[in-house]
Amino acid sequence: MSDKKKGILVLYSGSSGVGKGTIMSELLKKDNTIRLSVSNTTRTPRKGEIDGVHYNFVTKEQFIDLINNDGYLEYAEYCGNYYGTPKQQVEDLLNEGYNVFLEIEVQGGLQIMEKYPDILSVFVLPPSIESLERRLRRRGTENEDTIMQRLSEARHEIGFKDKYKYNVVNDDLDTAVNEILTILHNELADN
Ligand code: 5GP
Repeated sequence: MSDKKKGILVLYSGSSGVGKGTIMSELLKKDNTIRLSVSNTTRTPRKGEIDGVHYNFVTKEQFIDLINNDGYLEYAEYCGNYYGTPKQQVEDLLNEGYNVFLEIEVQGGLQIMEKYPDILSVFVLPPSIESLERRLRRRGTENEDTIMQRLSEARHEIGFKDKYKYNVVNDDLDTAVNEILTILHNELADN
């Protein structure tokens, strides 16, 4: 894709358990101009997560080294772990013409908005907080303390939804996916 026009960066946030990851997998299947930036994290891998695919799983020391080398586009601490977007990978993908999604939480999202005030930004909302709690429990990947911590974080994050250009409610998966594709395609048409 090297002759293609530079791709666009998309800020994609939403509280934990809202189904962001599932929507993202569908977006990747449906539109081959989309790439997801793979973040570095100090969190331990969940069952089924693959190093280099879902995240680059790094030690706190490695994470801090890259901060000191100015290697992150943004980074944040979330529920006791560090998460960050490595700069180089995003730059390379954009230069290859891909539209790069940053699936990140709100603190990192705000840093990105400051750097790129015109960025296309999408916040995914649950139909309700109760439905979010049900989803987090159904996923079964977190213990009770972590679930409560993530729910409280979710409430806090939803408070920032109006900072994002678009809010998409994930009630029905296909509808949410198509809404985001339409948002992306409209933005590309305007560029
Ligand atoms: P999880 O532990 O559920 O995979 O991720 C927790 C939160 O961190 C999610 O909201 C996820 O989108 C966010 N996250 C993942 N990667 C990054 C990143 O590189 N930077 C920031 N700021 N948040 C991230």
